[in-house]
Amino acid sequence: MLPWLMKAEVVSIGTELLLGEILDTNARYLGASLPAHGVDLFYISKVGDNLERLADVIGRARDRSDLVITTGGLGPTEDDLTREAIANVLGEELSVDDTEAGRLREFFAKRGAAMPERNLKQAMLIPSARVIPNPRGTAPGWWVERDGKIIVAMPGPPSEMERMWEREVAPALEARPDSGRSVLVTRTLKTAGVGEGHIDEMVSPLLKTNNPSVGVYARADGVHLRIGAKAPNRDEAQQLIEPLEAEMRSILGDIVWGADDETMEHAVGVLMRQHGLTLAAMESCTGGLLMHTLTNVPGSSAYVRGGLVSYSTEMKIEWGVDAAVIDEHGVISDECALAMARAVRERLAADIGIGITGVAGPAAQDGKPPGTIHIGVDAGFAEPQSVSYQFAQGREAVKRRAVSTALAMLRRTLIAAL
Ligand code: AMP
Ligand code: MG
Repeated sequence: MLPWLMKAEVVSIGTELLLGEILDTNARYLGASLPAHGVDLFYISKVGDNLERLADVIGRARDRSDLVITTGGLGPTEDDLTREAIANVLGEELSVDDTEAGRLREFFAKRGAAMPERNLKQAMLIPSARVIPNPRGTAPGWWVERDGKIIVAMPGPPSEMERMWEREVAPALEARPDSGRSVLVTRTLKTAGVGEGHIDEMVSPLLKTNNPSVGVYARADGVHLRIGAKAPNRDEAQQLIEPLEAEMRSILGDIVWGADDETMEHAVGVLMRQHGLTLAAMESCTGGLLMHTLTNVPGSSAYVRGGLVSYSTEMKIEWGVDAAVIDEHGVISDECALAMARAVRERLAADIGIGITGVAGPAAQDGKPPGTIHIGVDAGFAEPQSVSYQFAQGREAVKRRAVSTALAMLRRTLIAAL
């Protein structure tokens, strides 16, 4: 029996990956899943559909890792070469497996088609390989075990690969003897409103430990703190995380708005429901993205009254923004954002109004540079708040950033006043 496989390498196969035509989401998926199964992923390699280079990369991966996981290159076409490459690396002969060939013919017969002879290569095996079933497609996977090393070859299409991983490969890995094995469990706390450097300082006494370990990352929706703990099993890892998480939460207080997969719009929704409040928004440069984001949360109709996209100055005025405010301060101003927030709150009879105006870019507008954003929050029960900032990235990023800032302001307003 093998000792527990400590080191893994993912090899993503396909010339499309190198040309940037498709994103390597398979490697991302496997990278996210492996630690929970107690496997350390040390390398991700990408290689095109070329037999020599493919064999070279798989051979090297096998030299430096215990477990090599390939995705792609199992199709019927000439450029699908993963099986051939593995056979080359191990010096084994490919031959058609009769059971698999029968299964393939049946697959085609069920669809009322004859099997192209090309597909027969998907029924090939080498002596060290056994078939991993793939009910979602024609390409079975390979589980290859020799000399204390494992190669797992899975198909490229994510739906086939993900099923094979979840239902076949991960359980088979889990079932292996577990000497020296440890699983990694992570917990991510999400914060808003305080910069990365400052957060790092606040929690610096907690950053010194190795297990659990803490990572601080600036993300689009704020700074995330990831606690990771390794232990022989999930419960023990969880027990390592809990005291550190509690300490972190007590240091950071209500800067923390959520954990793990939770989104800011969800966190805001919970608060809105809790207080039985409603909101409405008037959006200019974000073109409805705030409404889109808020309404991605199921059940958001409980607190979202509606929104207006006032992309032109005339519409802002028509929907209740005082023309004098625009004359005096311009449409790209805190005053205009606040007037929009107030107008939409009144028009749509909501408890809270939000106004967003700015320059999404790439050109300047009214003498204001691209990326200038003004956000106003007008709640009947609190002082109106506005913020403005400049964000130097592309148009879409500016819009997204405006929305996450508006959500963070909304959350602040709810927490401060209630
Ligand atoms: P292949 O088996 O290499 O012919 O791949 C079949 C299809 O699976 C490709 O055309 C892509 O659509 C998809 N695919 C292959 N590799 C990946 C990958 N690493 N990430 C995401 N999709 C992939
Ligand atoms: Mg391919």
